[in-house]
Amino acid sequence: MSDEDGRREGRQRAKTDFRFDDARLCFAFAGTLADRGKELHVERLALPEDLSRWSMESGCTTVAPRCSEAELEGARRLREAIQRTGVALAEGVPPAPEDVAVVNGAAAEATSVPVLAADGASVRWDGDGIAAVLSMVARDLIALCASEEQRTRVRICGNPDCGTPFVDTSRAGARRWCSMKTCGALAKKRAYRAKAK
Ligand SMILES: [Zn+2]
Repeated sequence: MSDEDGRREGRQRAKTDFRFDDARLCFAFAGTLADRGKELHVERLALPEDLSRWSMESGCTTVAPRCSEAELEGARRLREAIQRTGVALAEGVPPAPEDVAVVNGAAAEATSVPVLAADGASVRWDGDGIAAVLSMVARDLIALCASEEQRTRVRICGNPDCGTPFVDTSRAGARRWCSMKTCGALAKKRAYRAKAK
């Protein structure tokens, strides 16, 4: 059981809770807008505080950074550029130049700095501004694009309501869902019900 599930034990995860599961940082960020395939999307970054909380829960910072409305707006712009780039990668076409520019702009900011603890086993991140967090997210996407092995394994979740990109790291290359805990579990449940009928 992951830390996150441990903390959330005793109650069902809310739709607005952030999802990390085993997602790449950049695509976990893309997933902060949920239900992309539905008419009504779920905005998990509704308030500046939400982005501060995501920064912590994603492990990008140790201390929640302060976030302004403008930073939240910029974060959403980056998020949508990442989403569209993920779709382009899944389709095997180059991303739009505007989206590449947005990603490069975010990545050009300084990131947080990793500080190794004396035990040699734990790391905290220093320099905790929102720009540093978004830079880490953008650089994660760039690193993904730079790796042919990973780039060619980007897929879009098979749940049409979801639409979140993921990297299929399975050996068979046949993964269909962004996460087995969410969309995969849902598909299993639906298949079971269909069979039972
Ligand atoms: Zn999904």
